Amino acid sequence: MPIHSINPANGTLLRSFAPLTHEVLEEKIALAGAAYTSYATVPLGHRELCMNKLAHLLDEESAELAALITAEMGKPIAQARAEVAKCALGCRYYAEHAARILAPEPIDIGANDAYVRWDPLGVILAVMPWNFPLWQVFRFLAPALMAGNAGLLKHASNVPQCALAIESLVRRAGFPRGLFQTLLIEASQVEHVLADQRVAAVTVTGSEAAGRAIAAQAGWFIKKSVLELGGSDPFIVMPSASLDAAAAAAVRARATNSGQSCICAKRFLVADAIYDAFEPRFVAGMAALQVGDPTQEATEIGPLATEALVAELDAQVQAAVKAGARILTGGARIAGNGNYYKPTVLSGVPRDCPVYREELFGPVAMLFRVRDVDEAVRIANDTPFGLAASVWTRSDSELRRFAEELDCGAVFFNEIVASDPRLPFGGVKRSGYGRELSAAGMREFLNAKTIVVAEPAAAALAAEPASGNAAAARLSIVASPPMTGSAAATAQGQSIAPRSLRDRDVPIASSRPAK
Ligand code: NAP
Repeated sequence: MPIHSINPANGTLLRSFAPLTHEVLEEKIALAGAAYTSYATVPLGHRELCMNKLAHLLDEESAELAALITAEMGKPIAQARAEVAKCALGCRYYAEHAARILAPEPIDIGANDAYVRWDPLGVILAVMPWNFPLWQVFRFLAPALMAGNAGLLKHASNVPQCALAIESLVRRAGFPRGLFQTLLIEASQVEHVLADQRVAAVTVTGSEAAGRAIAAQAGWFIKKSVLELGGSDPFIVMPSASLDAAAAAAVRARATNSGQSCICAKRFLVADAIYDAFEPRFVAGMAALQVGDPTQEATEIGPLATEALVAELDAQVQAAVKAGARILTGGARIAGNGNYYKPTVLSGVPRDCPVYREELFGPVAMLFRVRDVDEAVRIANDTPFGLAASVWTRSDSELRRFAEELDCGAVFFNEIVASDPRLPFGGVKRSGYGRELSAAGMREFLNAKTIVVAEPAAAALAAEPASGNAAAARLSIVASPPMTGSAAATAQGQSIAPRSLRDRDVPIASSRPAK
């Protein structure tokens, strides 16, 4: 089936692509394998230059890239520009911090030298969604390429032009040919790619169905997988919160990306004492959102990315109403061209209605009244998902309880949840496993190789300090190199470790067995 790029604001077919033939797919996988092997000789300092160039290209081409995002999946243009800027930030973060994250870690085990070195795994397959068509990919590719891995991207079938634009950016940034490639393939071809022995691991961001299918395949092939799946994040407001600030933030938390984000707040749990004051503020804020043409600067809610998404969201709203929920605002499609849905607030969704536990991937909020912290925690955790939570309180004791008792990957207090290159990102339960971003995200696709050296060479022993942790002292020279001085030497492929390490092992980016 052709892969179509369709403008969701008006249904116009922008471009169509034929999926790769078997032969071309084979060529691309072979190219990725070869690029990974030869990339071993590219010093970290050169990778850093390419990654910074990539950030520069993103900044320089921000207007065109943002327009492409908006055209292919309907993101309001101001948010699309912010997405491009965030990709540049992610590239700069990993360019700056890779040397620190990849530095060997000394471990004190007594007399012998011991340390962990971080080696790349190989070619990583990324199966990605359309909702942040650039950022979702960059948060994988920036750490993966800095660490010495290669990448193959199977992007969502409705954003093929974004997928090709990313490949072009990476190539023009100076990374070797074939190191990062877009595969215009169908979901059914993913298993074939994952089965290939040159592909080492897979990262999936998307629905539970996609995660389950691909993780099962990865398990069969015994390959590492990371899953970033759905969420139904709670937004909890306690009596000590600033009501106006919390209500305004609640609207932003639900409306970002037209409601199509895994970390959009989807369930709003408000303490009984302030519920009656919060509800009208929140409902008025949702109703006032500017819905319309995503190319306009003032637009806050654009079309949903596909016709199927609007139909599914509306079916969920109607099912909730049938089960007894009340519509406080919205509750219907917007007639006319494009996949538009009215910003909607539901209250009283019964616990036995399936929608109560489902993800609402669009501008629809579920509002609940809670008695106290106990009930807020119980309802917040009463979901198959466990991505993140936003909690509004000024009470230290409440803060400690929510931080400890909420069953999810992140809790943001008095702030809406957002991804940040410096912070680990990921979930528990059916939101998936593994982490993206920060050092944790980079290490998901690295081999933590344990090295023990029982008989340090004589020269190193002679240089050993008279007291203290000898192994740590020796290794401190290679650990945490800044990108000048020692790291610059490392980046040029010159080991600055003492002879005992130089003879037996070489730090980052200068040796790796070919696979
Ligand atoms: P999706 O339908 O699962 O698609 C995501 C990707 O998986 C697409 O590339 C899709 O390809 C592919 N895919 C789907 N089924 C597959 C299968 N059986 N085998 C192999 N590949 C398969 O998800 P979506 O509707 O695009 O994205 C929305 C979902 O992503 C939501 O649940 C959202 O919460 C989640 N999400 C999670 C995060 C996070 O970080 N946790 C971030 C963003 C989004 P095709 O397009 O060709 O079908």
